Amino acid sequence: MCGHTGCTHPGERFAEGAELLRTGRRNLLQVAGAGAAATAISSALGAPSAAAADARAGGRKRAYVVVLDGCRPDEITPTTMPTVAGLRAAGRNFPRASSLPIMETIPNHVMMMTGVRPDRSGVPANDIYDRKLGADRTMDRRGDIRAATVISRLNATGRVTGTVLSKEYLYGVFGNRATHRWEPAPIIPVSEHAPDLFTMQATLDMVEAFDPHLVFVNLGDIDRTGHSDVTGPYADARLARRAALTATDQQVARLVDLLRSTGRWRDSLLVFLADHSMDWSTPGNLITLAGPLEDDPLLAGNVAIAQNGGADLLYWTGPATRRQAGVDRMLRIARAHPGVLVAHDRARTPGLRLGPNAGDVVVYCKAGCRFSDPDPSSNPIPGNHGHPATRPIPFFLAGGHPAVRRRSTSSAHAHTVDVAPTLAQFFGLGAPRGGWDGRSRL
Ligand SMILES: [Zn+2]
Ligand SMILES: [Zn+2]
Repeated sequence: MCGHTGCTHPGERFAEGAELLRTGRRNLLQVAGAGAAATAISSALGAPSAAAADARAGGRKRAYVVVLDGCRPDEITPTTMPTVAGLRAAGRNFPRASSLPIMETIPNHVMMMTGVRPDRSGVPANDIYDRKLGADRTMDRRGDIRAATVISRLNATGRVTGTVLSKEYLYGVFGNRATHRWEPAPIIPVSEHAPDLFTMQATLDMVEAFDPHLVFVNLGDIDRTGHSDVTGPYADARLARRAALTATDQQVARLVDLLRSTGRWRDSLLVFLADHSMDWSTPGNLITLAGPLEDDPLLAGNVAIAQNGGADLLYWTGPATRRQAGVDRMLRIARAHPGVLVAHDRARTPGLRLGPNAGDVVVYCKAGCRFSDPDPSSNPIPGNHGHPATRPIPFFLAGGHPAVRRRSTSSAHAHTVDVAPTLAQFFGLGAPRGGWDGRSRL
């Protein structure tokens, strides 16, 4: 979830898509599926058919990457999510899987599709301070991804790809890369996120109409209900979270039913994972660093903050000659603040692999806390992620294709960045220039 001041206005993300349609560079098709309303899918001009690529490849292979946004691994149980739990038990499970810094939605979706860490993809967080712009903003622009995606690489082999992304900023950052792209709420946005019922209907309609080799789906309901407070006095928040898990499970069941009933299952690899998990903070556990930083004579007027829920990214904006002194001061102030877990000098912590877009200092909060910058009212949302407490994620492979190992558990430490190399091995693509940062989990 965004909820930050630096967001692009709703609608701007859709302007580019509308322009491509208006100027005839993409076609819009209203696919009438089983749902009440038609699904709008925009397609690249001269898009190949999946069958033609199958004939060339001498066989059918299909991959579906389904992101259960914000789902914790311990929430997938036979009672809360019977379909998903059943798929996990029948497939290859990675119980030690984790999200990667910053544990937010956009950077982890980008890692899934590029197979490289943010210092190479260019996307380290949901929100950054854009030094050229002189303001903080959401990383929701097509040009923000600087590495090749498996989507584009599959397209280059003549294969067909599809994106069905429930969040506006994901729609924005992946742009028109896929052969077929769901246009949520036909061009005119209504909210930051489309409910799973509509997202899954669009997925099913896209599979039936175009049968893409790869479909990348983000289901956003679990995350959205996670951003309400389940630790507080409102028991119904916990019930709402549980209801969302079960409702999303029913949507996953619709996809499985379609793949089985149309004979696609035996050719399919399904990758299920979350982009990050979820932590809950109590209302008093707010961390606002803007005040203490501005109170410091060296830092006053020389620091910008990009707030990412469980992570604050701090940027030195003063003279370059004072940068390291400023960084050292930011580290000292952040580390002394209650609720702060750790503050990293980003350039001197190469293991973070975040790159310069993440700023000079990366501050994580402790479990149960959240950042609210620049002031205590900036982040009213108790559910939170971005910090190390939200690293554990579900990650498993399912499907009927023989490449999927049955009923097995791996002790390997899988990550979101492993999705692209897994897909590449499945489809026979080589590593990109510079190699993968993840590894295939087939
Ligand atoms: Zn979220
Ligand atoms: Zn997310």
